[in-house]
Amino acid sequence: MRLKSLEIKGFKSFANETVLHFNADVTGVVGPNGSGKSNVVDAIRWVLGEQKSSQLRLDKMASIIFNGTKKRKEGQMAQVTLTFDNTKNVLPTDYTSVAISRILYRSGESEYRLNGVSCRLKDITSLFLDTGIGPDSYAIIALNMVEDMLSDREQARRKMFEQAAGVSKYKARKHETQQKLEATAADLDRVEDLLFEITDQLKKLEKQADRAQKYYELKAEYKTISVELAVNNLASHKKPTRN
Ligand code: ATP
Repeated sequence: MRLKSLEIKGFKSFANETVLHFNADVTGVVGPNGSGKSNVVDAIRWVLGEQKSSQLRLDKMASIIFNGTKKRKEGQMAQVTLTFDNTKNVLPTDYTSVAISRILYRSGESEYRLNGVSCRLKDITSLFLDTGIGPDSYAIIALNMVEDMLSDREQARRKMFEQAAGVSKYKARKHETQQKLEATAADLDRVEDLLFEITDQLKKLEKQADRAQKYYELKAEYKTISVELAVNNLASHKKPTRN
Protein backbone atom coordinates (compact mmCIF):
# COMPACT_ATOMS: atom_id res chain seq x y z
CA MET A 1 0.00 0.00 0.00
CA ARG A 2 1.39 3.40 -0.98
CA LEU A 3 0.37 6.91 -0.11
CA LYS A 4 -0.53 8.51 -3.44
CA SER A 5 -1.59 12.05 -2.67
CA LEU A 6 -2.72 14.55 -0.10
CA GLU A 7 -5.25 17.24 -1.03
CA ILE A 8 -5.59 20.15 1.37
CA LYS A 9 -8.13 22.94 1.02
CA GLY A 10 -8.93 25.66 3.56
CA PHE A 11 -6.91 23.83 6.22
CA LYS A 12 -4.71 26.05 8.42
CA SER A 13 -2.35 28.04 6.16
CA PHE A 14 -3.50 26.19 2.99
CA ALA A 15 -6.24 28.57 1.85
CA ASN A 16 -6.07 27.41 -1.77
CA GLU A 17 -6.53 23.83 -2.86
CA THR A 18 -3.09 22.22 -2.69
CA VAL A 19 -2.28 18.72 -3.90
CA LEU A 20 0.89 16.93 -2.85
CA HIS A 21 1.67 13.95 -5.08
CA PHE A 22 3.85 11.38 -3.32
CA ASN A 23 5.44 9.77 -6.35
CA ALA A 24 8.03 7.04 -5.78
CA ASP A 25 10.91 9.51 -5.93
CA VAL A 26 9.49 11.92 -3.31
CA THR A 27 11.30 11.51 0.00
CA GLY A 28 10.63 14.78 1.79
CA VAL A 29 9.05 18.21 1.91
CA VAL A 30 11.32 21.13 2.70
CA GLY A 31 10.66 24.80 3.34
CA PRO A 32 11.62 27.74 5.54
CA ASN A 33 10.40 28.05 9.13
CA GLY A 34 6.68 28.73 9.35
CA SER A 35 6.01 27.83 5.73
CA GLY A 36 3.55 25.09 6.70
CA LYS A 37 5.52 21.82 6.77
CA SER A 38 4.08 20.78 10.13
CA ASN A 39 0.62 21.74 8.87
CA VAL A 40 1.02 18.97 6.27
CA VAL A 41 1.61 16.44 9.07
CA ASP A 42 -1.34 17.94 10.98
CA ALA A 43 -3.53 17.51 7.89
CA ILE A 44 -2.62 13.80 7.68
CA ARG A 45 -3.34 13.24 11.39
CA TRP A 46 -6.60 15.20 11.14
CA VAL A 47 -8.01 13.31 8.14
CA LEU A 48 -7.21 10.04 9.93
CA GLY A 49 -9.55 11.13 12.73
CA GLU A 50 -7.50 13.09 15.28
CA GLN A 51 -9.99 14.43 17.84
CA LYS A 52 -7.71 16.38 20.17
CA SER A 53 -7.14 19.96 19.01
CA SER A 54 -3.99 20.13 21.19
CA GLN A 55 -2.43 17.36 19.07
CA LEU A 56 -2.88 19.66 16.08
CA ARG A 57 -1.31 22.60 17.93
CA LEU A 58 -4.66 24.37 18.27
CA ASP A 59 -6.82 25.74 21.07
CA LYS A 60 -10.06 24.51 19.47
CA MET A 61 -10.90 22.35 16.45
CA ALA A 62 -12.58 25.24 14.55
CA SER A 63 -9.16 26.95 14.35
CA ILE A 64 -8.04 24.49 11.66
CA ILE A 65 -10.16 26.41 9.13
CA PHE A 66 -8.11 29.06 7.30
CA ASN A 67 -8.57 32.14 9.45
CA GLY A 68 -7.82 34.77 6.83
CA THR A 69 -5.14 37.34 6.23
CA LYS A 70 -5.14 41.10 5.65
CA LYS A 71 -5.76 40.47 1.96
CA ARG A 72 -7.94 37.42 2.10
CA LYS A 73 -11.01 36.71 4.15
CA GLU A 74 -11.37 33.60 6.31
CA GLY A 75 -12.52 30.31 4.83
CA GLN A 76 -15.84 28.59 5.53
CA MET A 77 -14.61 25.01 5.53
CA ALA A 78 -11.49 22.85 5.79
CA GLN A 79 -11.17 19.73 3.69
CA VAL A 80 -8.39 17.15 3.55
CA THR A 81 -8.27 14.04 1.35
CA LEU A 82 -5.66 11.33 1.64
CA THR A 83 -5.43 8.83 -1.23
CA PHE A 84 -3.79 5.40 -1.00
CA ASP A 85 -2.89 2.95 -3.72
CA ASN A 86 -4.53 -0.35 -2.76
CA THR A 87 -3.57 -2.52 -5.73
CA LYS A 88 -2.03 -5.05 -3.31
CA ASN A 89 -5.32 -5.19 -1.37
CA VAL A 90 -3.69 -4.38 1.96
CA LEU A 91 -6.87 -2.54 2.87
CA PRO A 92 -9.82 -4.94 3.13
CA THR A 93 -11.79 -3.45 0.23
CA ASP A 94 -12.12 -4.13 -3.49
CA TYR A 95 -11.12 -0.58 -4.42
CA THR A 96 -7.65 -0.28 -5.95
CA SER A 97 -7.50 3.35 -4.87
CA VAL A 98 -8.84 4.44 -1.48
CA ALA A 99 -9.50 8.10 -0.72
CA ILE A 100 -10.49 9.20 2.77
CA SER A 101 -11.73 12.73 3.39
CA ARG A 102 -12.64 14.82 6.39
CA ILE A 103 -14.52 18.10 6.13
CA LEU A 104 -15.27 20.66 8.83
CA TYR A 105 -17.60 23.61 8.24
CA ARG A 106 -17.45 26.82 10.23
CA SER A 107 -21.05 26.11 11.33
CA GLY A 108 -19.61 23.19 13.31
CA GLU A 109 -20.89 20.41 11.05
CA SER A 110 -18.37 17.82 9.99
CA GLU A 111 -18.23 14.85 7.68
CA TYR A 112 -16.03 11.88 6.78
CA ARG A 113 -15.99 10.33 3.32
CA LEU A 114 -14.67 7.12 1.88
CA ASN A 115 -14.11 7.37 -1.87
CA GLY A 116 -16.51 10.29 -1.92
CA VAL A 117 -19.29 8.52 -0.02
CA SER A 118 -20.30 9.84 3.39
CA CYS A 119 -19.29 7.48 6.20
CA ARG A 120 -18.54 7.28 9.93
CA LEU A 121 -15.09 7.73 11.42
CA LYS A 122 -15.51 4.16 12.70
CA ASP A 123 -15.64 2.91 9.09
CA ILE A 124 -12.30 4.58 8.38
CA THR A 125 -10.64 3.32 11.58
CA SER A 126 -11.89 -0.21 10.93
CA LEU A 127 -10.51 -0.08 7.38
CA PHE A 128 -7.04 0.92 8.62
CA LEU A 129 -7.10 -1.14 11.83
CA ASP A 130 -4.57 -3.78 10.83
CA THR A 131 -2.28 -1.42 8.92
CA GLY A 132 -0.81 0.67 11.74
CA ILE A 133 -2.16 3.83 10.10
CA GLY A 134 -4.16 6.10 12.37
CA PRO A 135 -4.12 9.53 14.01
CA ASP A 136 -1.79 8.27 16.76
CA SER A 137 0.26 5.99 14.50
CA TYR A 138 3.99 5.88 15.18
CA ALA A 139 4.47 6.30 11.41
CA ILE A 140 3.18 9.88 11.64
CA ILE A 141 5.29 11.77 14.14
CA ALA A 142 4.96 15.47 14.88
CA LEU A 143 7.70 17.47 16.63
CA ASN A 144 5.96 17.53 20.02
CA MET A 145 5.63 13.72 19.87
CA VAL A 146 9.42 13.36 19.71
CA GLU A 147 9.62 15.33 22.95
CA ASP A 148 6.85 13.16 24.47
CA MET A 149 8.79 10.02 23.55
CA LEU A 150 12.08 11.32 24.91
CA SER A 151 10.51 12.28 28.23
CA ASP A 152 8.24 9.17 28.06
CA ARG A 153 5.22 11.35 28.87
CA GLU A 154 2.03 9.33 29.45
CA GLN A 155 3.89 6.13 28.53
CA ALA A 156 4.50 7.43 25.00
CA ARG A 157 7.32 4.94 24.38
CA ARG A 158 5.25 1.97 25.50
CA LYS A 159 2.38 3.05 23.22
CA MET A 160 4.78 3.31 20.26
CA PHE A 161 6.30 -0.13 20.91
CA GLU A 162 2.85 -1.64 21.34
CA GLN A 163 1.83 -0.23 17.98
CA ALA A 164 5.00 -1.48 16.28
CA ALA A 165 4.48 -4.93 17.81
CA GLY A 166 0.86 -4.98 16.62
CA VAL A 167 -0.53 -5.14 20.19
CA SER A 168 -2.48 -1.88 20.10
CA LYS A 169 -5.14 -3.17 17.68
CA TYR A 170 -5.97 -5.98 20.14
CA LYS A 171 -6.03 -3.45 22.97
CA ALA A 172 -8.43 -1.30 20.93
CA ARG A 173 -10.65 -4.34 20.27
CA LYS A 174 -10.49 -5.34 23.95
CA HIS A 175 -11.53 -1.83 24.96
CA GLU A 176 -14.40 -1.87 22.44
CA THR A 177 -15.56 -5.31 23.64
CA GLN A 178 -15.36 -4.21 27.28
CA GLN A 179 -17.52 -1.18 26.48
CA LYS A 180 -20.05 -3.42 24.72
CA LEU A 181 -20.04 -5.78 27.73
CA GLU A 182 -20.64 -2.87 30.10
CA ALA A 183 -23.50 -1.63 27.91
CA THR A 184 -24.98 -5.16 27.82
CA ALA A 185 -24.66 -5.48 31.63
CA ALA A 186 -26.51 -2.15 32.00
CA ASP A 187 -29.23 -3.44 29.62
CA LEU A 188 -29.50 -6.64 31.67
CA ASP A 189 -29.96 -4.60 34.88
CA ARG A 190 -32.75 -2.68 33.16
CA VAL A 191 -34.36 -5.96 32.00
CA GLU A 192 -34.22 -7.28 35.59
CA ASP A 193 -35.89 -4.09 36.86
CA LEU A 194 -38.59 -4.47 34.22
CA LEU A 195 -39.05 -8.15 35.08
CA PHE A 196 -39.49 -7.23 38.75
CA GLU A 197 -42.12 -4.62 37.85
CA ILE A 198 -43.90 -7.00 35.45
CA THR A 199 -43.93 -9.86 38.01
CA ASP A 200 -45.51 -7.51 40.54
CA GLN A 201 -48.14 -6.42 38.03
CA LEU A 202 -48.70 -10.03 37.03
CA LYS A 203 -49.54 -10.99 40.64
CA LYS A 204 -52.05 -8.15 40.86
CA LEU A 205 -53.60 -9.16 37.54
CA GLU A 206 -53.80 -12.82 38.63
CA LYS A 207 -55.72 -11.76 41.78
CA GLN A 208 -58.06 -9.63 39.65
CA ALA A 209 -58.55 -12.52 37.21
CA ASP A 210 -59.40 -14.87 40.14
CA ARG A 211 -61.94 -12.37 41.42
CA ALA A 212 -63.46 -11.96 37.96
CA GLN A 213 -63.68 -15.74 37.59
CA LYS A 214 -65.40 -16.02 40.99
CA TYR A 215 -67.79 -13.20 39.96
CA TYR A 216 -68.83 -15.04 36.80
CA GLU A 217 -69.25 -18.32 38.69
CA LEU A 218 -71.41 -16.66 41.36
CA LYS A 219 -73.39 -14.82 38.66
CA ALA A 220 -74.08 -18.10 36.85
CA GLU A 221 -75.08 -19.73 40.16
CA TYR A 222 -77.32 -16.74 40.99
CA LYS A 223 -78.95 -17.05 37.59
CA THR A 224 -79.64 -20.75 38.03
CA ILE A 225 -81.05 -20.26 41.54
CA SER A 226 -83.15 -17.27 40.39
CA VAL A 227 -84.65 -19.32 37.57
CA GLU A 228 -85.35 -22.23 39.96
CA LEU A 229 -86.97 -19.85 42.45
CA ALA A 230 -89.08 -18.28 39.72
CA VAL A 231 -90.20 -21.71 38.54
CA ASN A 232 -91.08 -22.72 42.14
CA ASN A 233 -93.00 -19.49 42.73
CA LEU A 234 -94.89 -19.95 39.49
CA ALA A 235 -95.69 -23.54 40.39
CA SER A 236 -97.01 -22.56 43.79
CA HIS A 237 -99.22 -19.84 42.26
CA LYS A 238 -100.62 -22.25 39.69
CA LYS A 239 -101.64 -24.90 42.27
CA PRO A 240 -105.38 -25.50 41.77
CA THR A 241 -107.50 -24.38 44.67
CA ARG A 242 -109.79 -27.02 46.22
CA ASN A 243 -113.37 -26.11 46.60
P1 ATP B 1 8.49 25.38 11.58
O1 ATP B 1 9.57 24.95 10.66
O2 ATP B 1 8.73 26.66 12.27
O3 ATP B 1 7.95 24.29 12.47
P2 ATP B 1 6.49 24.86 9.65
O4 ATP B 1 6.98 25.02 8.26
O5 ATP B 1 6.31 23.48 10.19
O6 ATP B 1 7.30 25.76 10.62
P3 ATP B 1 3.79 25.24 10.40
O7 ATP B 1 3.95 25.22 11.87
O8 ATP B 1 3.24 24.05 9.72
O9 ATP B 1 5.13 25.65 9.72
O10 ATP B 1 2.87 26.46 9.94
C1 ATP B 1 2.71 27.53 10.73
C2 ATP B 1 1.97 28.58 9.94
O11 ATP B 1 0.62 28.17 9.76
C3 ATP B 1 1.95 29.87 10.74
O12 ATP B 1 2.32 30.91 9.89
C4 ATP B 1 0.52 30.01 11.14
O13 ATP B 1 0.10 31.36 11.20
C5 ATP B 1 -0.21 29.29 10.03
N1 ATP B 1 -1.54 28.83 10.44
C6 ATP B 1 -1.89 27.94 11.40
N2 ATP B 1 -3.24 27.84 11.51
C7 ATP B 1 -3.76 28.66 10.58
C8 ATP B 1 -5.09 29.02 10.19
N3 ATP B 1 -6.18 28.46 10.77
N4 ATP B 1 -5.26 29.91 9.20
C9 ATP B 1 -4.19 30.47 8.59
N5 ATP B 1 -2.91 30.21 8.91
C10 ATP B 1 -2.69 29.32 9.90
